[in-house]
Amino acid sequence: MSVSRPVTGATRLAAVIGKPVRHSLSPVIHNAAFGACGIDGVYVALPVEPGQSLLAIQAMRAFDWFGMSVTMPHKHEVLEHCDIVTPIADRLGSVNCVFRDADGAIVGDNTDGEGFVAGLQSDLDVDPRGLCCAVVGAGGAAKAVVSALAEAGAAQVLIINRNPDRAAAAASLGGGRGVVAVPEQLVEADVVVNATPLGMASTDHASAVPFDVAALRPDAVVSDLIYHPAETPLLALVRSRGLRAQNGLPMLVHQAVGQFERWTATTPPVEVLHAAVTDALDARGPT
Ligand code: NAP
Repeated sequence: MSVSRPVTGATRLAAVIGKPVRHSLSPVIHNAAFGACGIDGVYVALPVEPGQSLLAIQAMRAFDWFGMSVTMPHKHEVLEHCDIVTPIADRLGSVNCVFRDADGAIVGDNTDGEGFVAGLQSDLDVDPRGLCCAVVGAGGAAKAVVSALAEAGAAQVLIINRNPDRAAAAASLGGGRGVVAVPEQLVEADVVVNATPLGMASTDHASAVPFDVAALRPDAVVSDLIYHPAETPLLALVRSRGLRAQNGLPMLVHQAVGQFERWTATTPPVEVLHAAVTDALDARGPT
């Protein structure tokens, strides 16, 4: 359900920059947050060409925007345009959120990993502390998840990836507990994360499953970072075996919560954001 709100002379802007950005769900999520919190803001998607992110940062600085979300291809490029880069954005080499601190400095941050852990806890009631976690994939999302799982106290984070160099790079973010692993080691994992695009709608590998689910323990929980479709072939298989599982929506919503908090010092109601994005995905249909 969307609530229409008047745009006033005092309405402040927030935006996501990216290219392409037309299919971003962030406007749905953040406008639901502004509405639910009664904050006079509006969030738009701005198509910004590669190499042009400095213009957006300058606009945010000059025109008193709440802040920005950052998506591809700007996540790395934006680092050099911020006054301050948080330790996590620096480690990941990736900014997904820009906000202004109390002194007006432009801060580049990354909320993906904290969003993943918050989504795991709130949706599946799983605290990674002391657990063996396995992450399949070693791209940008996987790195954020590996780092956040280690930060949250995971005993070990196994990284399983096709390209061994990228697996090693992701493992290095595991705070000494990141280990390059092979699929046979999935049996060791309490938590298994799919951070590959295998199973994503509208792709060549929409019907693909990223690993053999027979390798998982019956008490393992599975998190597929994909949220479209809501139930990937992987999720259907693991649920048919009775395992508990979640898709990528909790991470998507919670990384947005972290951004909104940085911009407004207000925590939006998670269930309202979740409902708004679910409605938007339902309206898009299965592919
Ligand atoms: P990325 O940087 O392109 O990394 C993709 C990873 O998947 C790479 O490690 C790649 O392996 C692996 N991979 C790709 N195709 C493969 C194949 N055919 N077989 C085996 N491995 C394959 O992508 P990303 O940004 O990390 O995103 C990964 C997934 O997370 C996507 O599905 C994305 O939608 C999802 N995601 C979700 C959220 C959320 O909020 N829920 C946020 C970000 C991303 P190589 O290194 O060997 O090439």
